[in-house]
Amino acid sequence: MRIYEIINKKKHGGALLGEEIRYVIEGLSSGSIPDYQISALLMAIYFQGMNAEETTSLTLAMVDSGDRVDLSEIPGTTVDKHSTGGVGDKTTLIVIPIVAALGLPVAKMSGRGLGHTGGTVDKLEAIPGFRTTLGGEEFLNIVKTHGLCVAGQSANLAPADKKIYAMRDVTATVDSIPLIAASIMSKKIAAGAECILLDVKTGNGAFMKDLEGAQALAKAMVDIGNGCGRKTAALITDMSAPLGYAIGNSLELKEVIQVLSGDKTARDLYDVCISLAANMLFIANQGTLEECTAKVKEAVTNGTALKKLADMVGAQGGDRSYIENPEKFPTASEIIPVLSPQSGYIGSMDTEGIGLAVMTLGAGRETAEDEIDYSAGIILHTKTGDYVEKGQPLATLHTSRKASINTATEKFLDTLSFTDAPPPARTLIYDKIGIMP
Ligand code: URA
Repeated sequence: MRIYEIINKKKHGGALLGEEIRYVIEGLSSGSIPDYQISALLMAIYFQGMNAEETTSLTLAMVDSGDRVDLSEIPGTTVDKHSTGGVGDKTTLIVIPIVAALGLPVAKMSGRGLGHTGGTVDKLEAIPGFRTTLGGEEFLNIVKTHGLCVAGQSANLAPADKKIYAMRDVTATVDSIPLIAASIMSKKIAAGAECILLDVKTGNGAFMKDLEGAQALAKAMVDIGNGCGRKTAALITDMSAPLGYAIGNSLELKEVIQVLSGDKTARDLYDVCISLAANMLFIANQGTLEECTAKVKEAVTNGTALKKLADMVGAQGGDRSYIENPEKFPTASEIIPVLSPQSGYIGSMDTEGIGLAVMTLGAGRETAEDEIDYSAGIILHTKTGDYVEKGQPLATLHTSRKASINTATEKFLDTLSFTDAPPPARTLIYDKIGIMP
């Protein structure tokens, strides 16, 4: 086999064979194929695409470049979820305690935030003592004992994906649906769960801004998951406004605790989480969608899901009293309202812009080495569709960086558009892929 011929075949739109894809990934891993040839192939894939068989082969080859988490010792049907990320997206921390409380074990590897989106691992590390770096045995033991565990991604999970991602980043080939789908799914398949529910976000705060792109990505990932023998489905959910009212690590954790305590004030967040959890149960054969939805709501109402979150926090070295008494989370030194410059309806929010405003307050990192201020963030008081009077508080900024307040206020106000008439009602769930109605 020659890499030149493989590049040429893809350049002319040919479908690569499984053995050709494996040859490329093995050559990338061993260093026998130089980066410039891999880069040329990535660009050919960018323009010519890949079919479902090719993306499945690419995913499996990347999985085989590293370790697989073996969940066979865990009794019950193991489930996992993945969100393509957004602003205020704390769904994992609500959904996995719910499904674990209902008997489905979750062994989850999660990422850190980078850019305008937050990460589950950072949010959990806002709890004093919480450890996300766990040995394989400890990780499995916590899942066996408590039914759930969230750890940072181990270094040797799909290492070929890491190398390819770094090359895509510098060759303008990140935004290729087959490459994104194989990249995300390689880590999900290596993480071992039998059932995978994908939450593909669409809207101005999402990676995929338009619905067609989100549907295509969801379909590509569902095909890969099912092609790899995992029961996989996707919901396409809205990210045209932040999810819930809280953005920033400990502020989001407090909102998670509110939702798991049965508080429905953050109605969009509550509804999306109920739907995600119910569909996870449904794909794991726990009943009809209606039955699964009823069970999920009951796990919130009766407090078992909140207890699961506290159990997980305790098992991972965190101080569970923060879950029981969320007022213990330290607050930022500066808590400043942002007042509305005019009266009118909030017509739209530039969600990515809100994520960037939150970063300037210290809640996110621009480089992987940056330190996070866990108490920093924004609490929204109004969202798209709400009517506000001039001078009414739109949001409250939380920060310990006094110097950032003016910039963050300007950035935040720039994200809003005001209208005289109410905008169309927001759709929260646009589509389901791989789930029968
Ligand atoms: N997240 C990933 O893990 N990979 C991509 O290619 C894009 C987003």
